[in-house]
Amino acid sequence: CGIIGILGQDEVAGRLLEGLSRLEYRGYDSAGIAVMDGVKIDLTKADGKLSHLIEKVAHNTPVGRLGIGHTRWATHGAATVENAHPHRAGKVTLVHNGIIENYAELKTELECAGAQFASETDTEVLASVLDHLLNQSDTLDEACQALLHCIKGSYAIAALIEGYPDLMFVARNGSPLAIGYGGITSTGHNEIFVGSDALALAGLAARVSYLEDGDSAFLRSDRVQVFDRGGAEVTRETVEMPEEG
Ligand code: GLU
Repeated sequence: CGIIGILGQDEVAGRLLEGLSRLEYRGYDSAGIAVMDGVKIDLTKADGKLSHLIEKVAHNTPVGRLGIGHTRWATHGAATVENAHPHRAGKVTLVHNGIIENYAELKTELECAGAQFASETDTEVLASVLDHLLNQSDTLDEACQALLHCIKGSYAIAALIEGYPDLMFVARNGSPLAIGYGGITSTGHNEIFVGSDALALAGLAARVSYLEDGDSAFLRSDRVQVFDRGGAEVTRETVEMPEEG
């Protein structure tokens, strides 16, 4: 239902939770965040109100400058902690809005290849497909493009991948996704954000660009590359953040 992602120059856990609070108005049944500390990806999830997640995070705050967060509106699987996003499979941890229509076929294929699943969601299948493709592909780019070719349905995705401590992979088809650009920090570095609507990025991003259906992107702190459905690198217009209220 709601997505926030931050490639920060500073700790992100608190800012992910703030972003999720701004998305609460959309409705949700559970929530979670994943934070990467350069090596490991730490997952925190809770069912029910965002305050449950905030309590868990306060109790054991994940450390790292790269993270994603999600508020879930269940379509496949009950509103449980196991089904809450982010979902992890091998090296891949991701959040997803929308519905993967061919998830059952993909899940059967993966199970035949030995994959195991911890949730009932279509989203966990996405993570498992990407992990499988990463193991089979020569490059990250090849694996991510192959993922988009084998999934059907509507999605906004934000993924973290172990071994890539300064990278987020995002994609959209039928569910909105915006990339936000922050101001230059005191260290001279930019911060990059992603959100399922511009409101999630209020107070974070100064400028925003909206992905189009079929687009995907690699976000790095010094470089954002956007690709169209055919895999060609494209430029999407960047505009000032809309005024709040
Ligand atoms: N289909 C996914 C699920 O049931 C995503 C739902 C959403 O958009 O929040 O977990």
